[in-house]
Amino acid sequence: MTATIDVRSDTVTRPGPAMLEAMMRAEVGDDVFGEDPTVNALQAKAAALFGKAAALFCPSGTMTNQLAIKLHTQPGDEVLCDQLAHVYLYEGGGIAFNSGCSVRLLAGDRGRFTATQVVENLNRREDAHYPRSRLVAVENTVNKGGGACWDLAEIRRIRAACDAHDLALHLDGARLFNALVAKGEDARAYGELFDTISICLSKGLGAPVGSLLLGSREHIARAHRLRKVFGGGMRQAGYLAAAGLYALEHHVARLADDHRKARHVGAELARLPYVAEVLPVETNIVIFRLQGSVAEEALMAHLRAHGVAAVTMGPRLVRFVFHLDVSDAQVEALLAAVRAFRA
Ligand SMILES: *Cc1c(COP(=O)(O)O)cnc(C)c1O
Repeated sequence: MTATIDVRSDTVTRPGPAMLEAMMRAEVGDDVFGEDPTVNALQAKAAALFGKAAALFCPSGTMTNQLAIKLHTQPGDEVLCDQLAHVYLYEGGGIAFNSGCSVRLLAGDRGRFTATQVVENLNRREDAHYPRSRLVAVENTVNKGGGACWDLAEIRRIRAACDAHDLALHLDGARLFNALVAKGEDARAYGELFDTISICLSKGLGAPVGSLLLGSREHIARAHRLRKVFGGGMRQAGYLAAAGLYALEHHVARLADDHRKARHVGAELARLPYVAEVLPVETNIVIFRLQGSVAEEALMAHLRAHGVAAVTMGPRLVRFVFHLDVSDAQVEALLAAVRAFRA
């Protein structure tokens, strides 16, 4: 019996022996006092990588995003983001709950909107009827867009629009490293364009826990206080930060391998009679739509019976995510399972 082929998410990875060894050896201290040397080293490394002044280690990407939204807004302000955005769909209504903001949803192309859409959806500040547009949030790669990557040129235009209209710009970069590897981009290009950036260590990078918020010294000092208020101050967090350091050193370039597997599976799915459409595969995520006559529950049950765990993303939409715990042999077993399905 082979282990379950778990393509539900790239969050399901477990630390391997070398990462565990790094965690066991971590030097730690009380991070609420700023005294954990491993947390400090991780924060310094990530900030330097993006050319940002400072970084803050947090328990989750939801927390780093929500801290950023809180940093940039006042209650009653409005946040602009795509209709597929994680900050809007999958953070428990946190924009309203934590920051008291309303949201203007933009209808982008697989989660990627344009500077023109931002400008067309701004509220006039001087008119008291409207909530004040205050923050634009970009997600790269776009999870619900099938791992879609942004065009840096469009982000530059959005930055210019934000500068012209006094808006802050935040990046939900939960899977930014996938985009950097797929497009051969430099992290510093993103550091220059965004006021704050959230990156996840617990997705494709394979750490068990942790995300980082990057920004200016002032932003991160305020975020440090807010993290305490949100209940996210951790003590000997260096054991977790050590996994993050290991991931940044050893698990970035290998993301290309996940992308290769995803492309291969995407191409094979496109040949199947019961698959209506496969979203373009750009990184480690494959989202495909079933023909109208096929119920996603039937496919999910078939996959479970063949030892494959996946998730649905809506009616007739199924997602596979590739990560460092999916072997080539498991990719072939997954393909055998999808080929054997009779709708
Ligand atoms: C996973 C994810 C996050 C953060 O999720 P946590 O589970 O809270 O770490 C944020 N944005 C995107 C796009 C994600 O996929």
